Amino acid sequence: MKFHEMTSPAIAAVDRASTLVMLPIAAVEQHGPHLPTGTDTIICEAVAAAVEARLPGSVLLLPVNWLGASAHHLRLGATMTAELSTYIATLCEMARAPLEDGFRRVMFLNGHGGNTDPLRVALRELQLEFPHTILSGASYWSIAEAVIAAGLEGEDKFVGHACEFETSMIQYLRPELVDEAARAHAGPWLPDVIEGLFVSRDMKQRTQAGCTGRPDLASAEKGAALFGPIVDRVCVAVRAMLDEPLPG
Ligand SMILES: [Zn+2]
Repeated sequence: MKFHEMTSPAIAAVDRASTLVMLPIAAVEQHGPHLPTGTDTIICEAVAAAVEARLPGSVLLLPVNWLGASAHHLRLGATMTAELSTYIATLCEMARAPLEDGFRRVMFLNGHGGNTDPLRVALRELQLEFPHTILSGASYWSIAEAVIAAGLEGEDKFVGHACEFETSMIQYLRPELVDEAARAHAGPWLPDVIEGLFVSRDMKQRTQAGCTGRPDLASAEKGAALFGPIVDRVCVAVRAMLDEPLPG
């Protein structure tokens, strides 16, 4: 079910307890010299749409929220962002409306690294207000960590930024948006965890050109091979949240 394609009587007829409201959240921010700024939105939207297509009777999908928490990209330009406090409040408000309308199961599907911390804060705040509901959320890459690692060739076996993975996905989903001439090895980049410490650095400090890893190793074939297993894994997570007993 797609919320924005339904009438209000049709939404009123949806069973509240056995439906999962899916809120995809992404971003529009610089993705190095070769990928479009909407990379996270394009990938997250495609994964969410494929999940809804597999489970149309039990997922109520909202349109993707493209305004993410991307201040750590601002110094590289070509970036839209919400401040962290605004973003946390936005996530709470996105979930609060369906929860106040009686829905009991909410899942945020995240597609942007900068949204991860504020998403957890929003879920903690919402839980205090709605203790009789199932409130969940994750980045699709955490849900599908193992399948993503298995599908990559470069040293980074995870989703970085405009990396081997994201480049392969856009080459698969929207090849016309990739600047192939600008696609290159991203060079060394700085970590954000050292000896167990989170080190707060923006993308200008961490990367050479706003991207990470091995975009030069990306291909549409890799993207195609990764997409289905990622959708499978997110469907497993959705079913788990549908099976989870509601708190009394
Ligand atoms: Zn991003």
